[in-house]
Amino acid sequence: MWDPIPYPGVDYDEVFRHGGDNCGNEEFDLFKCPHCGRIYLLENELFTVYVDGSDLSRRISALEESFDCLDCGHQIPTNEPWTGPRANIRFRVTWDELETSEWTWICKRPSST
Ligand SMILES: [Zn+2]
Repeated sequence: MWDPIPYPGVDYDEVFRHGGDNCGNEEFDLFKCPHCGRIYLLENELFTVYVDGSDLSRRISALEESFDCLDCGHQIPTNEPWTGPRANIRFRVTWDELETSEWTWICKRPSST
């Protein structure tokens, strides 16, 4: 079953606790590389990409141009949104993907009843 993390789904308190503060007006969302599935955290206000779930000091600015995926080397497409309700599902991160990544701490899967 396809089970994507909702927007907004990121626990901001956890991001800040991990040192993820950026500009004081942060908006965080997860997306993944549509080529290989590596998960990134996007800070929407300044378009800062956090590339490493275990080290939030590792960041790339995507404000002026896109970036090449650190795993597969493909450029992340720039002609469409990476996050939010208008993002293509190929950018959407599912709970299963999150739980096998370095980003497991960033939000809690709701318990299914
Ligand atoms: Zn990739």
